[in-house]
Amino acid sequence: MKKIVIVTTGGTIAMVRDPVTGSSVPATTTHRHLIHVEQLHAIAETEHYDFSNIPSPHMSPNILWELSRVVNRILKRDDVAGVVITHGTDTLEETAYFIDLTVQTEKPIILTAAMRNLDELGTDGPRNLLSSVRVAASIFARNLGTLVCVNDEIHAAVDVTKTYTSNIATFESPGSGPIGIVDDESVVVHRRPVLRSNYAVERIENSVALLKTFVGDKGDFIRVLPELGYKGLVLEAFGSGNVPVSVHDATKWLIEKHSMPVIITSRCFKGRVLGTYGYTGGGRSLKSIGAIFAQGLSSQKARIKLMVVMGKQSDLKSISEEFLLSPKVGG
Ligand code: ASP
Repeated sequence: MKKIVIVTTGGTIAMVRDPVTGSSVPATTTHRHLIHVEQLHAIAETEHYDFSNIPSPHMSPNILWELSRVVNRILKRDDVAGVVITHGTDTLEETAYFIDLTVQTEKPIILTAAMRNLDELGTDGPRNLLSSVRVAASIFARNLGTLVCVNDEIHAAVDVTKTYTSNIATFESPGSGPIGIVDDESVVVHRRPVLRSNYAVERIENSVALLKTFVGDKGDFIRVLPELGYKGLVLEAFGSGNVPVSVHDATKWLIEKHSMPVIITSRCFKGRVLGTYGYTGGGRSLKSIGAIFAQGLSSQKARIKLMVVMGKQSDLKSISEEFLLSPKVGG
């Protein structure tokens, strides 16, 4: 029987309702009751690694880095076939993508979560954990990179996003769909994520900002970034990658005066950013001043990627090459 290590980090999957206030709080016994889901024993031998018990909005670049090192270490063990990480849903996609970019392995890594507390009617945590262990123990999940298994769907880390504030069917991969499903006792994988990147880095850049432009944006938030100590920016633009003139001017200043990498993403949740429009602030004008286009990555994923890439590259040209539309695994 395969050994799967369950790394617990916190989130609603490990929360209960406070009887006095009625709000959701971390369970004091961490995840022990969850790990004792009876059917797990029929699928795999499991081991528990208690990493943390925090809500996922409390994640930070340093915690992500530490988690990645822990997962790397666990998967180097010959007796371990795969890892399941339990996590809060809010920032699960950032963690999944960070792990996908920074852990070198062919073994399955599955992130899972819950939208309902452990003690809530219809809690989804135990079922999500069971399905995730099933995926982690499956030969079909090998060499697919980091995956997310929630609500019996399997998603690639690069594509998945939380789409619903409250519904258990919250995780989707807009534009591409899940890569597979779990039904009953079967793990069915329909496709393999082709556009994966992976980096063996010794450090990451923590100071990467994420700003979303808006109608009437004067670009003044961009201009304070250097004095706040930021080293990189992800700028969420409109449509196919367009911004107001003042934002274009501030971006130009940031790139030219401070050599800061600026990654352009879109507030549209499907499709790629493109250098289509030539007017000032249009995608083509942003490209001409050296802004880097994030292809189809969401803003939060582009930020994770820039943090990792800047751990390795510092000149703008090398950074921009990492955002080209080609697979690069293990570099
Ligand atoms: N706020 C919670 C968290 O991300 C939500 C969840 O886990 O579903 O930790």
